[in-house]
Formats: sequence, structure tokens, C-alpha cells
Amino acid sequence: MPADAPESIARSVAIDGPTASGKSVVGRAVAEALRIGFFDTGLMYRACTLAALRGTLDIEDEAAVTAMVKSLDLDMRWGEPTDPRIVLDGTDVTPLLRDPEVERNVSLVSRISEVRDELVRRQRMIASREPVVMAGRDIGTRVLVEARTKVFLDASTEIRARRRLGEELDSGRQTNFDQVLTATRRRDELDNTGHRAIKREQAADDALVIDTDALGIDQVVERTLDHYRAMNGATA
Ligand code: C5P
Repeated sequence: MPADAPESIARSVAIDGPTASGKSVVGRAVAEALRIGFFDTGLMYRACTLAALRGTLDIEDEAAVTAMVKSLDLDMRWGEPTDPRIVLDGTDVTPLLRDPEVERNVSLVSRISEVRDELVRRQRMIASREPVVMAGRDIGTRVLVEARTKVFLDASTEIRARRRLGEELDSGRQTNFDQVLTATRRRDELDNTGHRAIKREQAADDALVIDTDALGIDQVVERTLDHYRAMNGATA
């Protein structure tokens, strides 16, 4: 571990995987079991996208989006450790972050490397203060490279689309399997740039890859917690 990496980063849990692989639901349960905060980095990219859509700038203008992100008053807070809230300019915008418009544009914002640099810096800063369970696409490979516990959640495109469809229908949106499958494929394509790990061969070398197709949430959570205990000593 580099000398400047605090123990809170080493003790944090890094969870990566493609869209709808179960990172949030697993991350939340692991955070609850370990009694530390769940940090969903996707929410940060979504909040930057929301801010870009609200402004007058062209969302394809990388320099303008980068400048806006650098000046953004963006914070992550926890009422409950399992419930990260995004506060933008003093207002909790978390309920707006799954809007279809944000969904459609988030990959445009997250592919900008200067935006990623800025968010990686902010994410590392927060994990330097206290251990977290952090979920995203570049956590094990870039944000928390020194974390001892890294897992990569894998699942087939069809299974992920089916899971996402359930979430969408539960939240009252009108959609169907084919639409969600197309959107899942498109997101994978757009997310497959930069330092992002969305395929198992792109996972950090020291990550535990969990194939979740045939596993229930509880089993994935248990494997992650077993791995955490093994990497942090039996008493952890
Ligand atoms: O995880 P979630 O689907 O909420 O993430 C939304 C989008 O944010 C992803 O599709 C991806 O483009 C971006 N993202 C990223 N790096 C992360 C987390 C999310 O590029 N660490």
C-alpha cells in the first residue's frame, strides 16, 4: 500500500460491475452488515448529468461540462448508512437521479476524462475520512486501488435486463423487456471506455469475481462478507 493511503481506504470495500449487476443492492447489504456507509458513485455521475441538463450548456461540450463539474457544490451525505443522499447546491436531489433523461445522458458526462479525474478525487477524499462500501465501474482499478477487499459482480446481459425491468416496473415506469435489453446493451457500449471495468477481464487483478447469474442476493452478500473477513483478519 502506498505510504499516503490511509487505513480507511485499505479497509473499504470496492464493488465494480456493469449496469444492473446488483452493485447497489449488494453494496447496501454489505454496508449494513459492516456498519459503514454505502457510497454509490453512480449517483455522483448522475448528479453531474442533472446539473448539466439544468444549465444552458451543450452537454456534448466537454470543456464546458468539465468546468461546470469542477465548480459544482456537490456532496454525499448519509441519514442512514445504507441510504446515500446527493446534495446539489444545498438541495437533496437523490429522487431525481433515476429520471429517464438523466439515464439517457449520464454516459455522455461520465466518458469525459477530466470529469472522471475530478470525481475520483472527491470519492477518494471521502473514503480517506472513514471506510465505506463503494460501488461503481472503476473503484478497484482506480478510486480505491489500495482497498484490500475488491469484488467484481458479473451477470449476463439478459439477467441484468430482467433485473432492471423489475426495478423500472416497480417504480411505475411503462416499459418492456426488449426496451430494457436494448438500453442495457447501449449503456454497456457507452461505459466501455476509460478506466472502467464492465467486463470480468477488466476487473482489478486482485478482485474476487462473482458470477451472480445463478445466485441470490444473500449468497452474493455472504461471499463478499467472507472475502472481507479473509482480507481483514478473522476478527473483522
Ligand atoms: O451505477 P449507475 O448505473 O447508477 O451509474 C450511472 C452511470 O454513471 C454509468 O452508466 C456510468 O456511465 C457512470 N459511472 C461511471 N463510473 C462509476 C460509476 C458510474 O462511469 N464509478
